[in-house]
Amino acid sequence: MIPKSQIVNLPVYEPGKPIEDVKRELGLTEVIKLASNENPFGYSPNVREALLSQLDHLPIYPDGACLELREAVASFLGVKGDELVFGNGSDELVVLITRAYLQGGTNTIMAVPTFSVYKTNAEIEGADVIEVPSIEGAHDLDGMLAKVDERTRVIWICNPNNPTGTMITETELVRFLNQVPDHVLVVLDEAYSEYVKSEEYPNSIKLMDEYKNLIILRTFSKIYGLAALRVGYGIASAEIIDKLNRVREPFNVNHLAQKAALAALADQEFVRSCQQANAEGLQQMYAGLDELGVKYYRSETNFVYIMPERDSREIFNEMLKLGIIIRAFPEAIRVTVGSREQNEKMLAAMRAVLTPTAS
Ligand SMILES: *Cc1c(COP(=O)(O)O)cnc(C)c1O
Repeated sequence: MIPKSQIVNLPVYEPGKPIEDVKRELGLTEVIKLASNENPFGYSPNVREALLSQLDHLPIYPDGACLELREAVASFLGVKGDELVFGNGSDELVVLITRAYLQGGTNTIMAVPTFSVYKTNAEIEGADVIEVPSIEGAHDLDGMLAKVDERTRVIWICNPNNPTGTMITETELVRFLNQVPDHVLVVLDEAYSEYVKSEEYPNSIKLMDEYKNLIILRTFSKIYGLAALRVGYGIASAEIIDKLNRVREPFNVNHLAQKAALAALADQEFVRSCQQANAEGLQQMYAGLDELGVKYYRSETNFVYIMPERDSREIFNEMLKLGIIIRAFPEAIRVTVGSREQNEKMLAAMRAVLTPTAS
C-alpha cells in the first residue's frame, strides 16, 4: 500500500497525559492535570440538565446545520446565521480550512511556537509550511508579512497565542491586515478570547466588515468547559463559510454537543465567574513564579508559558512524580491555571523541583 507521501513522517499528536494513567503508573492517589488548558471549574450546571433531557434522542441523526445553536450564537455575537460554521471542536475547523484552501504548490504562514494543529493539517494537504519565529512569545507580524507571496493561501494568527499566552493588539492587527493581499485568508484563532483582560484586544468581529479575508475561530472547549463534547465555530463572510460547508461532513457536530453548547452559551454568569477566578489564579501563579525567580510571559489566557533554566523534559518528569501533569515544550513548560488549591500544589511542586535544597 502507498500512503500520501506527506503523511509518512508526520508526528502523531501527543495529548496531555490522562490522570488515570499517571495514577496507575506511579501509584499516586492524587494527580492534578494542568496540561491541556481545561476549565478547572467544570461547566455550567445548565448543561447537565440539557444533556439528561436528550437521552431518548440518540437514535436520531443530529441537525447537520446546527440551526438552534446557529441562531443562538448569531444573536449572541451580532452576526448573521450564514456567517457561522460549526465544527467537531475548532480543531475540525482547522481541518476544513486546510482542506478548502491548501494543496501542493501553495504555502501557509504561521508563528513558531504556536498551536501545532495548523502545521499538521497543512502538511497533510501537501502545502509548504513557513514558520516565522516569534519575538518574546508574540507573533512577528512584519516577519510573517515578509514571507507572503503569490502562492500563499492562509496565514494563522493565534490570538492569544497557545502556548505563549501573549496577545496581538487591535492596532497591530489592523496594521497587519492592511498589508495582507486579498488572495490570502487570515485565520484568527481566538480559543482563549473569553479570558483576555487587556482593553487592547481586537474586536475582531467588527473588523470582518472591512476585511473580507478574515475567519475567526472560537470554541466551547475552554472557558465553557465542554472539551469532551467537541464544539467549535468559525465566523467569516458567507462566501468563506460556503467554501467550508462544501468540505464539511454532513453531521459533524453531534446532537448532545449542540444541546450542551446551547445551554452553556445561555449561562454567561458561569463564564464571568470563571474569568474572575482565572484572573485571580494568574496573579497567584505570577507571585509564586516571581518568588522562584523563574522567567515567564504574562498571559492573557488560562495558562502560563514558563522558561526555567533547566531541561523542560526533566522538569516535566519530576513534576509528574509529584503528581502534577504539565506540558513540556523544547525550551519551556506550559502550566494551566487551576483552582486556587491546585495552583498552590503546583507551585509547591515546582518549588521542590526547581530549588530542591530550599525545600
Ligand atoms: C484548545 C485549542 C483549540 C481547540 O479547541 P477544540 O475546539 O477543542 O478543538 C484551538 N485552538 C487553540 C489555540 C487551542 O488552544
